[in-house]
Amino acid sequence: MAQSNSFKTIEANAKNTMALLKDQSIRQLPRNYTIWYEYLTESNPDLVRRVNELMETDGKFTDKIASEIYRDFFTFEKENKAIQESNRIVQKSMDSVMVNLNATTGDFSNYGEQLSDFATKADSLSVTELQDVIGEIVSQTSTMSDNAMKLNDSLDSASKEISNLRKLLAEVQEEALTDGLTGIANRKSFDAALAKATSMSLETNTPTCLLLSDIDHFKKFNDTHGHPFGDQVLKLVAKTLTGGIGRTATAARYGGEEFGIILPNTELDEAVDLANDLRTAVSSKKLVKRSTGEDVGKITMSFGVALYTPREDALTYINRADEALYAAKNAGRNQVKHLQSGLAQTG
Ligand code: GH3
Ligand code: MG
Ligand code: MG
Repeated sequence: MAQSNSFKTIEANAKNTMALLKDQSIRQLPRNYTIWYEYLTESNPDLVRRVNELMETDGKFTDKIASEIYRDFFTFEKENKAIQESNRIVQKSMDSVMVNLNATTGDFSNYGEQLSDFATKADSLSVTELQDVIGEIVSQTSTMSDNAMKLNDSLDSASKEISNLRKLLAEVQEEALTDGLTGIANRKSFDAALAKATSMSLETNTPTCLLLSDIDHFKKFNDTHGHPFGDQVLKLVAKTLTGGIGRTATAARYGGEEFGIILPNTELDEAVDLANDLRTAVSSKKLVKRSTGEDVGKITMSFGVALYTPREDALTYINRADEALYAAKNAGRNQVKHLQSGLAQTG
């Protein structure tokens, strides 16, 4: 049966994942298990590619790689949690409103009955009886007004809670699309922006370009000046790139020290020019260690540019830009290369 087959597959995948963690001496943590389960089942080609890339760079699966992969591919769990929490609170607020509403409407119908009772009987009542009934109605009216106020309050606080939740959800959503270190778009929003740009490109028959850029010899920079200072440089690069592009473009932290820039409605030669402008902007920043005032020179970046070929899938397109970037690195770094007819050329 398909059901038992799929259970068998899941069980086999789980066993294989555990065996892999053991084989590779990867710590048996839930996070590592999640990543490698997904890796083995190949359900997310982007994740497989990213893990391979990072492993190639660092030589082994480190905690840093685990955090990066987990952050980029599994943050939706955070969104789900926020949504569940919101649902729970909205439900709670609604329940409390309903309790007050039911109590109040119940009171209203009693009150109505009493009033009409009074109207039919008033003629036949003595003055003392009349006074008693009026006293009763006054007290009922005041209870009714209290209840109506309570209902109003609970509606008020429910609506406040719901609007706070809406803000919270928007924040979580924003956070899930933002890179924690640099504050610019992360890999997840890069993927979404690229999908949007390429489908727009097809729809409107306009050119789209992609820039992939990578800091040159950044490992050495970190080794020389320390990781925290490297982080500051990443922030500066992110700021320089986002500041150097137009409103319709998206600059994202694609991975560790790699940045991707999506340029809708841009011809290849314009994209190459822009890449050169960005390259110059980055390399002209003077880096000074704030703590010591030490002048640490400059950093440079290499760029690969590719024009979108209608209907090619995202992975093929990114790989082409990556190929151009690789050509720029091979040619000596601090330069821009673009692909034309599959061949890397100087930009
Ligand atoms: P290349 O010119 O060929 O790109 O050389 P490279 O040294 O820049 O390339 P490599 O891929 O060997 O090293 C990338 C380095 O980027 C290694 C890693 O320590 C650093 N890096 C990645 N993410 C971060 C980060 O978040 N902060 C800091 N400070 N460094 C990072
Ligand atoms: Mg790199
Ligand atoms: Mg690099």
